[in-house]
Parts: sequence; structure tokens; C-alpha cells
Amino acid sequence: MDRKRIYLSSPTMYGEERAFVQEAFDTNWVAPLGPNVDAFEREMAAYAGVGHAAALSAGTAALHLAAILSGVKQGDVVFASSLTFSASVNPACYEKAVPVFIDSERDTWNMDPDALERAFETWPHPAAVIAVHLYGTPAKIDRIRAICDAHRVPLIEDAAESLGSSFRGKMTGGFGDFGVYSFNGNKIITTSGGGMLVAEDEEAIKRARFLATQARDPARHYQHSCIGYNYRMSNVIAGIGRGQLLHLEEHKAKKQAIYRQYREAFSDIPEISMNPMNPDGESNNWLSCMTIDAASKVTPIKVMDALAEYNVETRPIWKPMHLQPVFAGCGFVQTEEGVSVSEDVFNRGLCLPSDIKNTQEDMDLIISVVRRQFGR
Ligand SMILES: *Cc1c(COP(=O)(O)O)cnc(C)c1O
Repeated sequence: MDRKRIYLSSPTMYGEERAFVQEAFDTNWVAPLGPNVDAFEREMAAYAGVGHAAALSAGTAALHLAAILSGVKQGDVVFASSLTFSASVNPACYEKAVPVFIDSERDTWNMDPDALERAFETWPHPAAVIAVHLYGTPAKIDRIRAICDAHRVPLIEDAAESLGSSFRGKMTGGFGDFGVYSFNGNKIITTSGGGMLVAEDEEAIKRARFLATQARDPARHYQHSCIGYNYRMSNVIAGIGRGQLLHLEEHKAKKQAIYRQYREAFSDIPEISMNPMNPDGESNNWLSCMTIDAASKVTPIKVMDALAEYNVETRPIWKPMHLQPVFAGCGFVQTEEGVSVSEDVFNRGLCLPSDIKNTQEDMDLIISVVRRQFGR
């Protein structure tokens, strides 16, 4: 196909990353750790408004350490958002925990606090709650936090998709006992791959850095009293992160403008709804998504196929975890009876291209192809 590819969300790089990376080379600080790692941790903690941060090789690594540091052990139940990417919950499974999935609420697509509350009736002692801010939209994280406090359960906040999103003026990632960000290639800023674990608890972050560097006890020889991991971010990668962080606000503004443009362009088509915002927060609009009314003859697959003919990348809504073969048999607490909210959103939705490098012509093309499916 000659037509250029229009992406869902791809890396956007600048000169600043090169400068930080060059500095790492010039000072021969290419080996693990170094000044860029320290600075990136400080800068991320400051941006997120959280006391401490540990730079890691992936968001998944951060979620794994968050589970370990929360005390998740073999056979423990953990409550997790069902409508999320599998990396939210896989790390708890590395520790042989047993996930119980919590359905979404209609108004944010995130973990329904009422369903979370009900889950405690069946499983009174989960080891952790893992809540995501899907596609950048903040969850009702104050209620989720309050429920976790009432039951004395640690909250792991998966803010991998929501860096820059806030709830009542506070950055997502700062509400949990642990917050997790990702710098994977498709995220709002990227280091090619990487993640960050944040927490107010300085000792916990020190412990995360210790576990992430092979858990070496302070001794002259290599000595180990527990199982360690090779999860640290390198000084070169952290340089890319520092350069990207300078552009986060700009990326967010562009993502928000993309969302507004889609919303405006489809506002006269009653069968289309955009993914929900949280009126008590601000979304980074990492991905713009739409759902189609069940009564419509147009299906998400029809829209995705039509866009694919123009080399436009789309993706279905993340398939809920409680429907994944690997999690068959796990507990699931629904928001309402009948088809669950997360399954309904999955059935009727799709993710639209939200790449900040897309031109106005690209947006016009996407919008006109979608509109055409609805006879407009
Ligand atoms: C991307 C993502 C992760 C994993 O982050 P990586 O840096 O790719 O390991 C975890 N949770 C969610 C919701 C994500 O979107």
C-alpha cells in the first residue's frame, strides 16, 4: 500500500533526548545507573507530586515490584480492574496471586467503586487492589482510595496510560501506595521502553531499587538474602526520558485537541459516543476511543476495516481480563446484571488514531471515513 500509515500512537522524538544521551556517552556513563537516572527520578517525582521514584526497565517491572512490596504472596487474592491491559495484573500472577476482576463503571470505564466494595463481601482479605486509569481517563480514585483505607488494603495505581492526567488537581499515580508509569513506545512519552515506580514511602522506593539491582546485600562479595531482579533503567535510557519529559505538557495538549476534534466531528451522529471523561479530573487523552450504540447497524469491525483500507491503524477496546482464556475461572464482580459494562464497552468500541504527529489532513481523512460508515 502506497498510502502512508496513520498510527494509533507512536514515538515523537526531539533534539533534547540526543543531548542527554550524548552527555551519557561523553562522560562514559553508559553503564547502568548514573546522573540521568537520578535526575529522571527526581524530575518524575516532582512532576507527579510524589515523594520518591525508582526508574525501571518497564512499567511491568514497576507493577511487579509494587506487588512484591505490597506483600502479595502465593495464593493471595488481588482485586484488579477487568478492563485493562494484561500487564496490570500479570505481575501479581508472577507472585502466584489469584486475581479477582472488578467490572467498570459506565461513566469512566474504570473500576466501579461499588463493585469493588461488594467484592469484599466474598473475598474479605485481598492482598492488594490494582486499579487502572484506562486510556488516560482518571478513575474515581478518591473513592477507591477510601475503600482500600477502610479495609486496610494497599492500592497499586496503574497510571501507565495516564501520565499527566489528574484527579481534583492531583496527578494520577500519586493516590496509590504505589503508582506506576510506563515509557513504552506507544505511551504519551517514551524512552523506547521503561517504567517508573513512585511512592511517598522512601524506604519502599529504596527497597525497590535494591530488588531491581539483583538484591545484593551490603558485603564485599556477592551476597543475597532474597530473590532479586535485573529491573533497573539504564543511564542512556533515562537520558531519553529526561528529554521527553520536557515535552509532556505539549503532548498532552495535542492529545486533548485530537479528542476534542473527534468529539466535535461526530457530535451530529447520535450512534457515536466518545470515551468518557471524568468531570472531577483532567485526562491526558492518551487514546481517543468511540463506542457505537447497540441498535446501530454499524459495527466497530466495519469501521476498523474501512479505516484499514486507508492504512489507518485502529484497535479494538482492550479485551477485559475476565474474558481472557488465561484468566478463565477467576472471580469477577459485575457492576450490573446481564452483559457486564466492561464486556459491553469491548463489544461496541474501538480506539481511534491518537498520534500527535497526525496532520489535519490525516484527521480529516479518518473523520470522513468514519462518518461515511454512518451514511454522512
Ligand atoms: C503499557 C501498559 C503497562 C505496561 O507497561 P510496560 O512499560 O509496557 O511494561 C501496564 N499497564 C497498562 C494499563 C499499560 O497500558
